Amino acid sequence: MMNLRKHQSLLIGNYAPPSIEIVRGEGCKLWDANGREYLDFTSGIAVTNLGHSHPLWVKQVSDQATKLVHCSNLFSIPEQVRLAERLSGRIGSGKLLFCNSGAEANEALLKLSRLFGHQIRKTARPKVIVAKNGFHGRTLGALSATESMKYRQGFEPLLPDFTFRCLNDLTGFKEAVDEDTVAILVESIQGEGGVHSASDEFLCGLEELCANNNILLLLDEVQTGIARTGEFLGFQKSGILPHAVAMAKGLGGGFPIGAIWVNEKHSSLFTPGTHGTTFGGSPLACAAAHAVLDVIENEKLIERAKKMGKQFKAGLVELAEKFPESILETRGRGLMLGLALSFDPSDLITDLRESGLLAVGAAGQTLRLLPPLTIKTEDIKKALVILQSCLKRKERNT
Ligand code: PLP
Repeated sequence: MMNLRKHQSLLIGNYAPPSIEIVRGEGCKLWDANGREYLDFTSGIAVTNLGHSHPLWVKQVSDQATKLVHCSNLFSIPEQVRLAERLSGRIGSGKLLFCNSGAEANEALLKLSRLFGHQIRKTARPKVIVAKNGFHGRTLGALSATESMKYRQGFEPLLPDFTFRCLNDLTGFKEAVDEDTVAILVESIQGEGGVHSASDEFLCGLEELCANNNILLLLDEVQTGIARTGEFLGFQKSGILPHAVAMAKGLGGGFPIGAIWVNEKHSSLFTPGTHGTTFGGSPLACAAAHAVLDVIENEKLIERAKKMGKQFKAGLVELAEKFPESILETRGRGLMLGLALSFDPSDLITDLRESGLLAVGAAGQTLRLLPPLTIKTEDIKKALVILQSCLKRKERNT
């Protein structure tokens, strides 16, 4: 309690005041300062995809810390080169640029679209089409690409020349293209927006639209990436290959690292001095990402996310049948799932937490469920039991 009080007097209030203090994690569990145990179905919002303190991750990060933590991008960092090779191996022939967060990765994509616009498309006013209800980060560029007033309000003027169209409205995207359009940026599943999936037809349609009009197709895989949805990157389900991709969150398994992958053809738009970051792709951050990729391979986490996701979703669909007044829709795939509710989920999230299950909200009265990809059947069952009793209580009290 003491620290929670201090929290508010010492930390800037950009987050809602927290009600518990988390001090330890292991696997899919977290413990608070009073020793209370929670099932963590937030994974730090799609970050700790291996679960907390995975032994291999801890070992590889600790070993790297004894060898070299940081060194400037003035020098070649072998862990970075090897990571670029591994990521390209999973995406396609191209090059990587490392940074520290999702917003930063999207900033790099937007800067790439500017370079492309000026150098290749010869436009003075490069325009980008973005999906309504998307979320791309809090920096001013990424915020300009984010439509919701909830995030934008108070920070205007933002960057001009972003056009917003509804996700899956291919005709709307087509109609928005003009001679200055240089890029289209979308998420394969909108996370903050309420777990809305881009359809395969939509993503394939965008790929064709971009190819026909010399427009860059940019995928924000910050939340959907790194095996979360049952593919290494969410768009891979649709069989498309974008021109560039943003990644972060799950990439470091809890250690901050972001990256963009750009295809061979467009990777040379960035030349020495055009972009940079002090911390991006440090040896320690790359070691964390290597550990994540190793565990994904060793424990077959892509297949696992698919399999456990099916199990969990089946349980959620059953719940939806039991609580038709409360649950309007079950959304998402892999272990990025959401329940569209008929009420604001805040009280339910509190009740779930008090009952030992951590979950997170999303736009449109959505409850988001993001367990670690290492989750076991018995923990999914426990979560479903807690969800059922909290929904019952909610219905009884309204
Ligand atoms: N893009 C997407 C799709 C996200 O979900 C987020 C964060 O939730 C971001 C970008 C921003 O990432 P970060 O918070 O690491 O800046």
